[in-house]
Amino acid sequence: MGLLTEGSPLSWEETKALAEHVRRHGVEQFINLYSKLRDRTGDVLKWGDEVEYIIVKFDDVNQRATVSLRAEEVLPKLQEKELKDPQNVKSLWRPEYGAYMIEGTPGKPYGGLLAHFNIVEANMRYRRAEASALLKDGEVIMSITNFPRLGSPNFTSPPYKPTPDRGVSLSYFFPDQATFPGHPRYKTLAENIRKRRGNRMAINIPVFRDVNTKIPIDDYHKILPDLAKPDSVYLDAMGLGMGCCCLQVTFQACCITEARTLYDQLAPLCPIMLALSAASPVYRGYLTDVDCRWNVVSASVDCRTREELGLEPLKNDKFRIHKSRYDSIDSYLSPEHEKYNDIEVVHDPAVYRRLREGGIDHPLAIHVAHLFIRDTVSLFSEKVHQDDENDTDHFENIQSTNWQTMRFKPPPPNSPIGWRVEFRPCDAQLTDFENAAYVCFVVLLTRVILTYNLKFVMPISKVDENMQRAQRRGACASQRFWWRRDVRSQDADTYLEMTVHEIINGKEGVFPGLIPLIESYLSGMDVDADTHCSVQQYLKLIQRRASGEILTMASWMREFIDKHPQYKKDSIVTEKINYDLLKTAYGIQSGTIPAPTLLGSSNVSKTNDDIPKAFSKMMSKDCP
Ligand code: ADP
Ligand code: MG
Ligand code: MG
Ligand code: MG
Ligand code: MG
Repeated sequence: MGLLTEGSPLSWEETKALAEHVRRHGVEQFINLYSKLRDRTGDVLKWGDEVEYIIVKFDDVNQRATVSLRAEEVLPKLQEKELKDPQNVKSLWRPEYGAYMIEGTPGKPYGGLLAHFNIVEANMRYRRAEASALLKDGEVIMSITNFPRLGSPNFTSPPYKPTPDRGVSLSYFFPDQATFPGHPRYKTLAENIRKRRGNRMAINIPVFRDVNTKIPIDDYHKILPDLAKPDSVYLDAMGLGMGCCCLQVTFQACCITEARTLYDQLAPLCPIMLALSAASPVYRGYLTDVDCRWNVVSASVDCRTREELGLEPLKNDKFRIHKSRYDSIDSYLSPEHEKYNDIEVVHDPAVYRRLREGGIDHPLAIHVAHLFIRDTVSLFSEKVHQDDENDTDHFENIQSTNWQTMRFKPPPPNSPIGWRVEFRPCDAQLTDFENAAYVCFVVLLTRVILTYNLKFVMPISKVDENMQRAQRRGACASQRFWWRRDVRSQDADTYLEMTVHEIINGKEGVFPGLIPLIESYLSGMDVDADTHCSVQQYLKLIQRRASGEILTMASWMREFIDKHPQYKKDSIVTEKINYDLLKTAYGIQSGTIPAPTLLGSSNVSKTNDDIPKAFSKMMSKDCP
């Protein structure tokens, strides 16, 4: 998303009254865009990461850590260079949901040279240093997925009291001041999503039952008996989910067909990468039974009404809807994968018919008609009336509030940008080394998929099952996941359950493993020594995480907490434990504290700011 322009948000009542208007025009805009750009071809691989960060503040005297609500002060400074010279900056900075969050991307997307893998981490370091230079008073930037005590008393600096009876979030835990104040989008979303739902948000995360864990963990099940469960950590605000950080990667395909292929083939990889990136086991100061953020964020923006949830018969609403607007994808996009769409794809039949009349094929029309079952939850008065031939804001309005594991991104109007696909499941990793490793791994896999014509696609119901397994405590080491038995055959539709280790590193006589497939792809490529070294280090990290030789951040955090002298085996992460945990994590992130159980022994790459000139062989293939 580009720099957010200021605007005047409409009230929920006004927004709701315009829901059909946004849908109708959004669909026309997609049809126009599609008919102009469907045949666009010859784009090359370009790609870029997005990393979200939390501004943490350490109070060493009192041994406390809080989130610092200073994104609004820091962001304009981070954006100064871009405003002066948008084409020649090394980084781009954007706001995120939390008033303590910032999002950084490279200044320009990377290209299709293998050597580009060697500048990713250097760019991430540059971003971290650039943002860190603007901090003060014990503040640091951390790419942790969730601040462990987010929503606990006084978790912000400055401290604010939550207001459960007024404001936008109506939260017992998350004060409105913790929502990014610099643009109306965020508070508007919080308020409208809650109002659409017709109730307080209800996120229940099963608590981790340690030997001394008390059930019920607190009294919220008494205060809110319809919403809070006694054996769960109850959260009640969009910010307690959307205030988590993630790692995303977007890549450009040569044409729409390739984009659809990559969207489909990467969807089954989402749960595997979610398990492998798991980094968020603690919520509101409690150790939970989940390892990653996905379902938490999903419930934090679940704006379905009681009718849509199936709790009451349909009367005012149109559909019974099975998933939150933040969830895993519901259908594949390529015509040849239609048979794997085995769950009900709830869609608006009128929208579907209109898309078909507009020349859009069945799977793409179903996809868009599915996105368009959602109402707009944020509308600005300046944007109500648009030119459907040239604007795409209404389409983007619905598209950008469908937060799914994969996103199919059409080219923006009148731009040099092509059809893109975004990979969205990963929890953010602590270090630049890890974040670089994860994104390079995914981008390399896209090349392997295209080069060897691999098929990862499996019935969507199995991908959904894998998504749930991926989030369980210790999933990376102990869960099994549905996987295609033969990824080289286009039609042998048999599946087996394998561990992350077997999927990533291979299983003798059964599956070659994703890393060996990448190695075999790389063996045919010419590359400079530094890039080769870095890529090998990145693959080694993934390989070791998958095999259990080193821990996920989630497991590492569990171990740290368990060994902490103040931990009473009661699932409670106190202020002091939180402080020590984050201090140690910050030391690891800065390279001053070794963490062999998290990162292994060799975790230094040869990352560099520039790409060597001599090696210019492109990774992308010619367009089919
Ligand atoms: P959003 O928040 O909508 O996903 P961002 O602009 O924050 O979008 O991030 C998009 C990512 O896509 C960035 O890493 C950026 O470098 C990358 N990117 C930009 N242009 C292209 C392109 N033509 N092809 C692929 N990726 C691109
Ligand atoms: Mg972004
Ligand atoms: Mg973001
Ligand atoms: Mg976001
Ligand atoms: Mg993104």
